[in-house]
Amino acid sequence: MKRTLPFALLLAFGACAIGATPGVHPLTEDEYLRSRELMVPVQGVSRRQLRDTYSAPRGGGRAHLALDIMAKKGTRVLAADDGYVLRIDDNELGGRTLYLSDPSRRFIYYYAHLDKRVYGLEEGQRVKRGQLLATVGTSGNAPKDAPHLHFQLMRMASGKQWWAGTPINPLPYLVTKGDER
Ligand SMILES: [Zn+2]
Repeated sequence: MKRTLPFALLLAFGACAIGATPGVHPLTEDEYLRSRELMVPVQGVSRRQLRDTYSAPRGGGRAHLALDIMAKKGTRVLAADDGYVLRIDDNELGGRTLYLSDPSRRFIYYYAHLDKRVYGLEEGQRVKRGQLLATVGTSGNAPKDAPHLHFQLMRMASGKQWWAGTPINPLPYLVTKGDER
C-alpha cells in the first residue's frame, strides 16, 4: 500500500491537470446568470417588490414559468440585460411581445402584455441593460384591471432561436432596481 499510494496521487494530480487551466474554469449556468446582474425590467421596481409567481398554476394544468411584475399601465419596460432583439411579435396569449437575448445568445428574455413598443426597435438590434423597450400594458390575455409585465427567462435550445427554450426562474438573478439608462 505504501508503494502504490504515491503513484495513485500522481495519477489523480495528472487527471486534474488535464483539461483544466489553473484558475480558469467555464462558468456554470448559475454563475453566468449571476454575473449578468440583471435589472428588474420595469422602471422603479426593486427586487424586494417582486413576488415569486414562477410556479403559480395557470389554465390547462400548466404552471406559469415566468414572473408577473405588476405596474401601472404605461410604466417603462427596460432591458434586463445587454444583448440583442431576437423577435418582435404579437400572439394571442402574450399580446404585444418582445424576445431578446443575452450577449452570448445562450438565454432568451421574453417580455409580454406590452402596451406600446418603442418606435424604431428592430430585430437584430443591440440593446443595453436599462434601455427603454416598451411600456407595461394588458395586451393578450392579461386582465384589463391588472396591467403587468410577464417576464420569462429561458435557456435557448441548441441550434434553435427565439421560439425554443427551457424556462428558468429569473427571480434569483434580478438584482438591480429598474432604472432607465
Ligand atoms: Zn404572466
